[in-house]
Amino acid sequence: MASVYPTAWFGDRLAPMADASLSITSAAVLYGLSVYTVLPVTVSPAGAASAFRLSDHYRRLVNSARIIGIDTFEPVWDEERFCAAVKDVIVANEIAEDVFVRATVHVSEQVPGTRSRGMSTTMSMFVYTAESILPLDGARLKTSVWRRIPDYAIPSRAKVNGAYVNSVLAKQDAIDAGYDDCIFLDASGHVCELSAANIFIVRNGVLITPSTASDLLEGINRDTVLQIAGHLGIETCEREVDLTELYIADEVFACGTSTYVAPVVEVDARIVNGSSVGPVTARIRETYHAVLRGEDELCGKLVTPLT
Ligand code: PMP
Repeated sequence: MASVYPTAWFGDRLAPMADASLSITSAAVLYGLSVYTVLPVTVSPAGAASAFRLSDHYRRLVNSARIIGIDTFEPVWDEERFCAAVKDVIVANEIAEDVFVRATVHVSEQVPGTRSRGMSTTMSMFVYTAESILPLDGARLKTSVWRRIPDYAIPSRAKVNGAYVNSVLAKQDAIDAGYDDCIFLDASGHVCELSAANIFIVRNGVLITPSTASDLLEGINRDTVLQIAGHLGIETCEREVDLTELYIADEVFACGTSTYVAPVVEVDARIVNGSSVGPVTARIRETYHAVLRGEDELCGKLVTPLT
């Protein structure tokens, strides 16, 4: 289990974790009405901390709030303020190892009724040790009987806390059946994503991933992987993916902040690539780790120094 660092950001200041709590009367607690992002911070051998794609995480948080109709966040939290708070919480915790920062905009209005506009919001950030939620030497996935919530019910490109009940149902089901994680299908039966990661397959040398019209979260690492593949000269394709394509794919991997690039070795009791990490996955993974740490600027400068 990841360990949480002692200092959080809560509201407009740093605070001990024990003081960073919301009321049971808030919309965040009552309805899961919060939007969030999790961003990675890596520490170099010399001890310098950098955040990966910080601007993009801020932008996705703003977009999530916009989709849901939370309109009191963006006017008071511009990108500069957001980045300064991330920096403050990292410095305060004297980070000496890779961590994740979870930044959440909670609708903290008390007894609000089921509404979103004009409600008070509270920013929280906490820091925890960066541990992958999937095994990195080969994950085993099971297709979920629970379908991904469609965009027309709860928008999947908004990272809304309440929507994660869908992920919990599917992931727990997979764990109960002895697997590491689920594969979500969308309402029309096409492959969507995992409980908290996007999915890629390789067929005949082409790197394929479900398109953003398949009710998935537009993952920042999904985009990074597509950029890396482009620079490495690997052909890519975003389109609808059938479940049976996973069964016959040459390679399958998942990607996301909390999974990095995680090779998949089994889908619904079908073995992928003889249970070993495929060559395309290995190339992408190696470059991804260098890009994440700012050691490779293949995709331009994607890291922001924090210390
Ligand atoms: N899909 C879902 C449902 C997620 O929760 C996540 C994790 N944020 C991802 C995909 C991957 O997104 P990212 O690469 O931005 O971490």
